[in-house]
Amino acid sequence: MARRKLVAGNWKMHGLAADLGEVTVISMAAETAAADVALCLPATLIERAVRAAPGFAIGGQDVHRADKGAHTGCVSAAMLLDAGARLTIVGHSERRDAQGESDTDVKAKAEAALAAGLDVILCIGESDQVREAGRAVPTVSAQLDASLPAAITDPGRFSIAYEPIWAIGTGKVPSIADIGEMHAALRERLIAAYDEAGEQVRILYGGSVKASNAAEIFAVPDVDGALVGGASLKPSDFLPIVGAAAS
Ligand code: PEP
Repeated sequence: MARRKLVAGNWKMHGLAADLGEVTVISMAAETAAADVALCLPATLIERAVRAAPGFAIGGQDVHRADKGAHTGCVSAAMLLDAGARLTIVGHSERRDAQGESDTDVKAKAEAALAAGLDVILCIGESDQVREAGRAVPTVSAQLDASLPAAITDPGRFSIAYEPIWAIGTGKVPSIADIGEMHAALRERLIAAYDEAGEQVRILYGGSVKASNAAEIFAVPDVDGALVGGASLKPSDFLPIVGAAAS
């Protein structure tokens, strides 16, 4: 079945109130785009971004597995929803590495977010050592199996982002053949986990996506969009990527 592409921006730890104009510009272009568009913003900006761009999909970049409690510095799914967010990223490699998040943690976060009503983008990806050792596909497949929510009620609300760690923010991108091989393998794992619903889960590619490479990447079978870091900060960089997804 045809899956509508999703282009999601990840602003990471960038963005102040002065940057909300960029959100508004992107949201206006998203209204007429033939692809789904979202921006995952720092928690401090979410509520103001939702006010600045009503109707546009604003998301968080992480979520705690618990509803509330003694978890200093953390944000729950209920809090993200309360701020107006519609989605969240979980398991980004920058959190897996810097915060020591395990596949088990990521699975719990994804399950909590989906149960609360947030859409989820779950990130997986291999290191350069794993890629060079020729073990990327089995390693990332195992990471996916261990991170997946036990069940999904609506596959349209759940996406995977395949993000090779060595491609994030480096300007390096896997070959088109390697992206295709990985996405096909991940599709098989999703079908094994969720039967026909696994066909409907979107598999995004992430890692140095730019206007100049987006169209080629989006043409790969089973690439259903992109998670975009650096190039999502400016409409002039991000909107051509949205345009490539829509064409
Ligand atoms: C990311 O961090 O999710 C990402 C894909 O970053 P970049 O596009 O900057 O490589």
